[in-house]
Amino acid sequence: MDESNPTEATVPLEIFKQVVEQAALAISITDAQAHILYSNPAFQRVTGYDVHEITGNNESLLSYKVTPKIVYETMWAQLLRQRPWNGLLVNRRKDGNRYLADLTITPVVGDEGKTTHYLGMHRDVTEVHRLERQVQNQKTLIESVVDAAPVAIVMLDDTEKVILDNQEYKKLIGELGPEPAAILLGALHASLGADYDNAKKSGRGFVGREVRHAAEGRKARWFSCSGSWIEEQDSSADAFYEPARRQYMLMVIQDITALKEQQEAIRVTALRAMLAEQERIQGLREVLSGAIFQLQGPFNMLAAAVRMLERQNGGNPADSLTASLEEALAQGNRTLETLRACVPSQAEETPTLIDLNAILKDMLRLVTPRLLADGITVEWQPAGNIPLIPGRPTRLASLFKALLENALDAIHESRGERRELKVSTTAHPDRVEVLVEDSGPGVPDEWRYKAFEPFFTTKGAERQHIGMGLTVAQEVAAGHGGLISLDNLPGGGCRACVQLPVA
Ligand code: FAD
Repeated sequence: MDESNPTEATVPLEIFKQVVEQAALAISITDAQAHILYSNPAFQRVTGYDVHEITGNNESLLSYKVTPKIVYETMWAQLLRQRPWNGLLVNRRKDGNRYLADLTITPVVGDEGKTTHYLGMHRDVTEVHRLERQVQNQKTLIESVVDAAPVAIVMLDDTEKVILDNQEYKKLIGELGPEPAAILLGALHASLGADYDNAKKSGRGFVGREVRHAAEGRKARWFSCSGSWIEEQDSSADAFYEPARRQYMLMVIQDITALKEQQEAIRVTALRAMLAEQERIQGLREVLSGAIFQLQGPFNMLAAAVRMLERQNGGNPADSLTASLEEALAQGNRTLETLRACVPSQAEETPTLIDLNAILKDMLRLVTPRLLADGITVEWQPAGNIPLIPGRPTRLASLFKALLENALDAIHESRGERRELKVSTTAHPDRVEVLVEDSGPGVPDEWRYKAFEPFFTTKGAERQHIGMGLTVAQEVAAGHGGLISLDNLPGGGCRACVQLPVA
């Protein structure tokens, strides 16, 4: 026994042998040419060879020729440098079955510095490999399904960091910037408020929440977002004995911009049709009311003449002239009644709370073709956080449409160099003020009040304008407890000011 080695003093060599004999690892000792000199029972169990069959053979007895030559060459290159080698080899058992061996070979270097033996230790890792491959296959399958999905899918950890995404999500990165999920989550937090935290706590998630994103100078995009929270067992070593759960958020994002634009186009078309119908009815009402009003004068004179003739007759039966006039008057009154019955009634509209900025934006959209055709530049200055006002949306829309059309007509007719339209809203504590300013010729002082009278128009007869726009606009404003006024701008042009009380 070597007295200088404390291990040898405490652990007898016999114990070393027993340790190797009883080890669960397949252990073999070879000479420098890889001929097996010793193998333990575990080696015999794994390979299927008994000790007599294997001893004296080269370890290559176990080799199955699918292991690439380069693996052995690398292995031997390492061993010849007297360095241990570890790797995976496909081995063949005595019965011909193959298994995957996780092998470590350590050179045993003698006193003269030469490799005298090799120590080989391996275990069968076929099952581990099968499970790993199965997990990998499933992961690949899931990833390809997720990647092929026509919607953006992203998985976030509990710090909202992206840990998995798909092709559609990567496309969004190109379009929206580095982290679309962060942008959309910010908007969702803002729109859902406390509901977001409740959805997370309860695990219910959220479905189909629409988010609008408008980057500086880019057209607005719409996304429908659904989110659900998934819990997973923490797979780190720390959590091996004390299982911990990790929460992930799976977010599905669908670009619905095209759908929204389509819906918007349909809405604007419907609004245009509704306003056109309302204008048609309004026009008919005005024309018929005007005609009735105009006819009423001569009929009143006729009635006075009949009453005079009756008085002259002194109660005698009516002469033929009086009778004819009476008949003409009765006929005329019947015609007036028929005309009154023909005046179409105005459709009732339920009052709601209205965002004037939204209505003005819609009206500007409706007149866009005229703005483009006349090369008019528009300055749109909506007040932020404008209070809602109670009112009838279509009536108010027609009011602003009339003001915008008057402004556009004025700019068109002035044929001036400046072709500008400015529309702005201002919020006051008790009212909202809307200004429509144009760069047209302005309104002569004597017309500022006359402009609101029925049938008054400053426009050429060729435009077939009956001059009811401002009359109706004033009627609508008054119906909402508001006011309209016209004045001239210092630098030229007209300014229409509408004041509407807030709720
Ligand atoms: P071989 O002709 O044996 O060798 C292929 C290449 O390896 C040769 O071209 C040569 O470059 C190099 N090479 C081979 N032997 C030597 C050597 N003695 N010195 C320098 N270079 C050499 N193989 C298995 O397939 N399964 C095992 O479980 C396994 N266990 C091993 C355990 C130990 C301890 C050692 C030392 C080797 C083990 N080997 C094992 C390797 C085995 O000895 C063979 O090298 C290998 O199986 C390839 O065999 P082959 O007949 O295809 O080619």
